[in-house]
Amino acid sequence: MSRYLAGLLPHELATELGFDRPFRGMQVFKWMAGGAQSFQDMTNLPGPERERLASLVPSLLGTSVDGRFRDEDGTVKLKLRLPDGAAVETVLLTDIEGRKTACISTQVGCPMACAFCKTGTLGFLRNLEAFEIVEQYLHLTRMFGRPSNLVFMGMGEPLLNLAEVRRSIEILAHPEGIGLSLRKITISTCGIVAGIRDLADSGPHVRLAVSLTSALDAVRSELMPVNRSQGLSELRDALAYYQGKTGDRITLEAVLIGGVNDRPRDLEAVVEWSRSLKVQVNLIPWNPVPDLPFREPSRKAVEDAVALLESAGIPVTRRMRRGRGVLGACGQLGDALRARD
Ligand code: SAH
Repeated sequence: MSRYLAGLLPHELATELGFDRPFRGMQVFKWMAGGAQSFQDMTNLPGPERERLASLVPSLLGTSVDGRFRDEDGTVKLKLRLPDGAAVETVLLTDIEGRKTACISTQVGCPMACAFCKTGTLGFLRNLEAFEIVEQYLHLTRMFGRPSNLVFMGMGEPLLNLAEVRRSIEILAHPEGIGLSLRKITISTCGIVAGIRDLADSGPHVRLAVSLTSALDAVRSELMPVNRSQGLSELRDALAYYQGKTGDRITLEAVLIGGVNDRPRDLEAVVEWSRSLKVQVNLIPWNPVPDLPFREPSRKAVEDAVALLESAGIPVTRRMRRGRGVLGACGQLGDALRARD
């Protein structure tokens, strides 16, 4: 467990900060959730106590904002510097109704190496700790107001860092703190079967999204190396297990790539593969990543894909094309990190 306060629960704060009165842990927890900038802000702590804490813990947060990029469409991307000098990106999306969604990273880089994804080209450095996950949300809140939704769809594979993701959710959803509803939190996975089963068994009961992208093993294995060891039938078994435990509809994300997986037979395969599951499909037209050998799908291919899925009775949503101007859209994260290296 780290000493950084944003990663600690109330009782852990009480121990970490040496309070002899346990309720002080809850007080500090609430201040952290409320965006306190220093112990001096924590006005219900006695003055001498605030001074003791300030010398014990020099900085409330372990991460700092080291770059800020705003797209014309309102999307904001922050580059955060971590205590060890590494960096991650975090994104705030605002939809037409003004609803804010925090798109949060869980790893520095990513080990999954999906062929179409910028982050996948960076390689993997390390897992984020819970405080580094929670602080992404805190920075976004301080700068832009409180996001009502949180998606683990930034850099990294959340189900390969499930312990810290769980801890961060416990903190973010704590009723005495930020109090995010679990129904407003989504974990997106490239299809880590053991992690899906673990989530089904032990929670938390958040929403689950799976980056399917292709329901043809040969195509999917080419695009997503994870499929070579955890193929489509194993993935579907895990999702059926998850659905059996939770009853939830699962979102299948499908990145549509021109000429690669946007043909009618690609979409027919998705329909066929998901027949025994309760799903909705989120179509994401591929966002360009420099140097990757792919192209965007044509407008017609996207429309045909929507029509084909809908006529099979599958609800379809289309991912907003947001954040492209700051390379903050799906699959584009990682660009701002070059600056430091
Ligand atoms: N590792 C997890 C969390 C990342 S979510 C996962 O794979 O689900 C990021 C989403 O963006 C995934 O659905 C991924 O398939 C998608 N994506 C990656 N590169 C993309 C690109 N260039 N254009 C559009 N979507 C992309």
